[in-house]
Amino acid sequence: MLRRGLTIMAEYIPRPCVFCGPSGSGKSTLIKQLMDEHKDTFGFSVSHTTRNPRPGEQDGVHYHYTTREKMELAISNGEFLEHAQFSGNMYGTSKRAVQDVLATKRICILDIDVQGVKSIKKTDLKPIYIFVKPPSIEVLEERLRGRKTDSEEAIQKRLATAIKELEYIDEETSANATFVVVNDDREVAYEKIKGILSTDIVKLRDIRFKAK
Ligand code: ADP
Ligand code: 5GP
Repeated sequence: MLRRGLTIMAEYIPRPCVFCGPSGSGKSTLIKQLMDEHKDTFGFSVSHTTRNPRPGEQDGVHYHYTTREKMELAISNGEFLEHAQFSGNMYGTSKRAVQDVLATKRICILDIDVQGVKSIKKTDLKPIYIFVKPPSIEVLEERLRGRKTDSEEAIQKRLATAIKELEYIDEETSANATFVVVNDDREVAYEKIKGILSTDIVKLRDIRFKAK
């Protein structure tokens, strides 16, 4: 309903892009680079979470920080497109988060976990999926530690989840509109992502140019 409804009203709504991959695989880093380089092309779907903000994270920019009670109420009111439990916290994409970006006619970027992907596949959003994989579990552990944002307990939980997530990603490689990028060298990974999205970026640019 989300994307189809808007498509009827406004001829062209670019295809959203879902980033998924284990925590620490580099999704946020690569998304930031993409959004910095293409200022008006992408819009980020700001999720809700019950986890605490990390240093440098801003409410309404990185996440909407909320409580379990508020989020459960909003979910029961049908305000969420998808939601999941991850590492002891709730995360979810509100319908409004996506709708707000679609309304700007930008490519809507979602950063969600595997449970979120499974839910989004049941909706009519029909995004492109980019799975970001770390080169190995050992490197993932180094990156999670290097980020210095999580406790030892949180790192262990994230690593245990990562193993299951990587199994899912490996099963999904041949699914439609699905791409897997190994984030070993950051620039190489970034160029691959730009390559995957180049058709969508160019199409959006052309449509905007013609509309002028
Ligand atoms: P995610 O959003 O997937 O949880 P982040 O983007 O926060 O992951 O990245 C985790 C850590 O790894 C960060 O400290 C980031 O700077 C670092 N990182 C990301 N990509 C690379 C890379 N290609 N090589 C080395 N370090 C990286
Ligand atoms: P972090 O706490 O590291 O920001 O995120 C932890 C995990 O939650 C990541 O895998 C991230 O992709 C996922 N995540 C963030 N927002 C959402 C969301 O709205 N829905 C779902 N399902 N997962 C999310």
